[in-house]
Amino acid sequence: MIEFEFKRTGNPKKKPIDESKLGFGKIFTDHMFRMDFNEEKGWHDGRIIPYSPIQLDPAACVLHYAQETFEGLKAFRNDAGETFLFRPLDNIRRLNESCERLCIPKLEEEVVLDAIKAIVKVEEDWIPKTPGTSLYVRPFIIATEAFLGLHASNEYAFIIILSPSGHYYPQGLAPTNIYVEDEDVRAAVGGTGYAKLGANYAISLRAQIRAQKQGYDQVLWLDGIERKYVEEIGTSNAFFVIDGVIITSPLTGTILPGVTRRTVIELLREKGFQVDERRLSIDELTKAAKSGRLEEAFATGTAAVIAPVGSFHYKGVDYIVNNNKIGFISQFLYTLITEIQRGATINQQNWVLKVE
Ligand SMILES: *Cc1c(COP(=O)(O)O)cnc(C)c1O
Repeated sequence: MIEFEFKRTGNPKKKPIDESKLGFGKIFTDHMFRMDFNEEKGWHDGRIIPYSPIQLDPAACVLHYAQETFEGLKAFRNDAGETFLFRPLDNIRRLNESCERLCIPKLEEEVVLDAIKAIVKVEEDWIPKTPGTSLYVRPFIIATEAFLGLHASNEYAFIIILSPSGHYYPQGLAPTNIYVEDEDVRAAVGGTGYAKLGANYAISLRAQIRAQKQGYDQVLWLDGIERKYVEEIGTSNAFFVIDGVIITSPLTGTILPGVTRRTVIELLREKGFQVDERRLSIDELTKAAKSGRLEEAFATGTAAVIAPVGSFHYKGVDYIVNNNKIGFISQFLYTLITEIQRGATINQQNWVLKVE
């Protein structure tokens, strides 16, 4: 394990006492991890420092050309006080794939893993314990070189911040209603849909706001070329259960390869369910909903884990899914995954990594 320099804060904050009021991503811990890159030294100077605003030149590349990527994973604490990370290497490998897409120099997997473990260890007392809560870990990279001509930055900062969080949706595990977006698109083949970039989120906001104004929780994105095939739900992967078969989009470059998506597919196949990674058209989906063959739909992602879909809206028609109730598979997956994450259920794949 790498020993990072540690500068402890002189001003520790008050930790939240009521774990039912954490919200998501609103509270930040006392420290952060930072490591810098320049051409001469490569990635260097990994350190844990007090959480504080960062200084950036107004000409910093990230502010003008959006050269930025991030990750999201969670740390959990069980009743015995042990701390776990869930599949952290999957996030670290995906971070490097996002880096490759944006011409950001890659990081060494072991260094990032040690950095995550070290900062989580330092902030261990910030991890809430109530089931459904966690310490959300947000690593990100920004291009810091000051220049206005367009080229890949020669300087970067890799930073990890931490946020004790409750459920992503204030209502907890409850059915969401979805607006099928048929104007804006979030990704096209050859673009950046498979990478976790701030830029992908900026372009998704308009549709999200439009949907929310009409009373929907999330947007379901269609493919960027024909607007015909269902791809993702907001910032989550999408699953549909039709005639007992679980269907999700294949990884063809336009959807984010979610760690929760992979976890769900692996768990369901292990339990004997049929999971098809195939394209599903919106017409097939509306027909299945009308004829009662659409049994369940849900979204998967680190933040919410599983978000059941209670209804979806497409071109003026609202389709109800599973009587607007949490489905059997959604509930089963939510319970199983959150138990594995908190170290309460051992799974053979060793997905949880103890932080010592
Ligand atoms: C992060 C993200 C997901 C979910 O990925 P997880 O690894 O399961 O958290 C899905 N879609 C998009 C667009 C995302 O940014």
